[in-house]
Amino acid sequence: MTYEEFWKLPTIKSYFPLNYASGNNWVSFKVKCHQCGKFVSNHRTRGVVTSLFNGNYRKVNIDYEVVAHGLCHACDVITTAKYILHEDMTMSGRDPDTGKMNRWKARQEDKTSVLFMKPQKLMWWKKLLKWFGIK
Ligand SMILES: [Zn+2]
Repeated sequence: MTYEEFWKLPTIKSYFPLNYASGNNWVSFKVKCHQCGKFVSNHRTRGVVTSLFNGNYRKVNIDYEVVAHGLCHACDVITTAKYILHEDMTMSGRDPDTGKMNRWKARQEDKTSVLFMKPQKLMWWKKLLKWFGIK
């Protein structure tokens, strides 16, 4: 990917929060530079988030696939992270340390070398407001 192509991509932040009907939502997604280990700023984290539909006629599940490229301000290198965020607040993808496919619970993400995210559950009254379409 060229720098030009990189800067044309929308910021990953512009897709968030990702909301599920259950009230779960993902509030952010960050990429850690593979060279210096620091988080890349939102402005320099760009890519695409797509919805993946699966399930059957009784229940449709939506997963979000995130392909994020982080251009480190200090190192000037791009780190690419590709993960699927699930409604049960788990995330699956390739483990940056072992190279194997893995699935993590949201609160453990700061232990991995690539990502950090903060899961947030809506309070019952927020769900109610949402149900009635009040913001
Ligand atoms: Zn760096």
